[in-house]
Amino acid sequence: MSRLSMRERFAITVRGFGMLKRYCPGLVRDKAVYELISSLQPFVSVWFSARILDEIMVEKRIEALAVLVCGIVLINFLCAACKGLLKRVGDEKEALMWCWFGRIFSDKQMSLDFDDLENAKIQHQRQEAEENLYMFGNGLAQLVWGTAVLVRVGVNLTAALFLAGPLFVSRSENAAVDNPLWAAVVVLCILAGGICNSRATVKENEIFMRWCKGTVWFNRTFGFFGRELYMNPERAKDVRIYDQSVLAERELDKLIRQGQENQGDNFWMALFPGAASVVIGLANGVCYLFVAVKAFFGAFGVGSIVQYVAALSRLGEGVQEFMYLLSDNQVYCQHLQKLFAYLDLPNRRYQGSLTVEKRDDNEYDIEFRDVSFRYPGTDRDALSHVNLKFRIGEKLAVVGRNGSGKTTLIKLLCRLYDPTQGEILLNGVEISKYDYDEYIALFSVVFQDFKLFSFSLGQNVAAGVTYDKERAKECLIKAGLGERLEEMPEGLDTCLYRDFGENGVEISGGEAQKAALARALYKDAPFVILDEPTAALDPVAEYEVYSRFNEIAGDRTAVYISHRLSSCRFCDTVVVFDKGRLVQKGGHDELVLAKDGMYYQLWHAQAQYYT
Ligand code: ADP
Repeated sequence: MSRLSMRERFAITVRGFGMLKRYCPGLVRDKAVYELISSLQPFVSVWFSARILDEIMVEKRIEALAVLVCGIVLINFLCAACKGLLKRVGDEKEALMWCWFGRIFSDKQMSLDFDDLENAKIQHQRQEAEENLYMFGNGLAQLVWGTAVLVRVGVNLTAALFLAGPLFVSRSENAAVDNPLWAAVVVLCILAGGICNSRATVKENEIFMRWCKGTVWFNRTFGFFGRELYMNPERAKDVRIYDQSVLAERELDKLIRQGQENQGDNFWMALFPGAASVVIGLANGVCYLFVAVKAFFGAFGVGSIVQYVAALSRLGEGVQEFMYLLSDNQVYCQHLQKLFAYLDLPNRRYQGSLTVEKRDDNEYDIEFRDVSFRYPGTDRDALSHVNLKFRIGEKLAVVGRNGSGKTTLIKLLCRLYDPTQGEILLNGVEISKYDYDEYIALFSVVFQDFKLFSFSLGQNVAAGVTYDKERAKECLIKAGLGERLEEMPEGLDTCLYRDFGENGVEISGGEAQKAALARALYKDAPFVILDEPTAALDPVAEYEVYSRFNEIAGDRTAVYISHRLSSCRFCDTVVVFDKGRLVQKGGHDELVLAKDGMYYQLWHAQAQYYT
């Protein structure tokens, strides 16, 4: 990773603070104020202690002593109370910080173009930024912690300089000890400690950055072979029957070997700070000696020894932490740069701005004009020169063998992908020109691989937290799940699946498919698209959906992908796909008679088992 210039680091840090302000309100402020009070308190105590000692040893004034003692007690009480409060608030916010960071990633993932979700390079970019943040706090969390350190450093340096200042100007009985050269030696020692500490951090960070590069591979392998493979019930059946744990163990062995190789790095990472601490120890020794010699020759009293020793030690720590912060800033800016590169990925979907006309009569028409599409990273068109127009209110069946491009057609229609060639028009306007959210509101789709979630049944159907219960019930009944709903312990409020509680209900694949159908009906969009909507249904349920298909689709334009060709009889038009091409179009009665057509072949291949 290339080193960043000061200017770049400044710009990145400022942007980082902007993100923290937006996603983690008040976190940086609360941490900074807590640190300000925490780091000021010891100096105040040291100052008061020095004055009390001087008063006891030299002046011996009872009233002044009483004022100093009351002062130190009161200030410590106030500081402790404020710190206690701020610590609670700050800790709570820091715990929440990880959830807030989650929103940065979920917001970006939701706004990413769909094809970018399948783009391995982009997903690697996300995973790297996410895992570095969550595993090591690299980037934004470092910025939060670094801000607290910066405040501490600022206070330490200012207060230590203030307290240590008189040490350098005080006069003793020995002119040689007062020589400014000694003061310069002390300052050099403090700087040497800081520089050694910083060098050690840089070396340590270089090794650490090498480690971080491997985390994506490490976590992915561990997550899949160490957890998912054994824990996900959906995989457990195959894993057990084919004893695939052997494969998993081989991969896990690689992780263990990698971990063992990293042990060597641990040694070096520990050695650098160790070496720095030797230099720091020597530098401290010189500083303390200077204070002791000056006191010995009568430059100041015993009380001031406490003050100067504490001040010099804080000064040294302050310089070391400041140097550390500078090298740490280089590291987290590099991580932030990667995070920002991911967050700045362009988003083509949201570039359109035309409003989709709201029509009560659902008068929308769609046209595919010479559309071809190739999935990114593949060398074959999934759709090739497709020309297709839907009439309003039409029930369109799309049939064809596996892999012939039916689902791809729907994905393009829903703007999950853009055509590689040609265009798709809604009411004569190219669909990318429309506002994305408005356009997508036109479609209710039940994908073949639809997903329901571990929320209540009602929330699943309505895809929302609050919803119209009567309408949700109606849609479930229409989709054929009415009886099952009656049996559910808490009706619409019954939670699906057991991911979040023992009371969740496991539903069968067929029931889930009906619930997904209900969700599509609830959305009440002018286009209903059903991709293999009866694949998981038993023959009776399938018959019910077919026979009520017109009622389900109502006056909406419906696109219906199915392998059960008998369903085509309920549709006005059938289009047949083969190897990405639209090869036939017409009514069922007409196509079934065309002996040299694909539809005839498909129909008779299926029909022979029923006759
Ligand atoms: P169908 O729905 O007719 O079964 P699809 O539209 O799903 O077919 O697939 C058409 C072709 O595109 C197939 O060859 C399939 O392997 C390929 N394909 C589908 N999805 C992807 C994808 N995400 N990435 C790459 N190729 C894909």
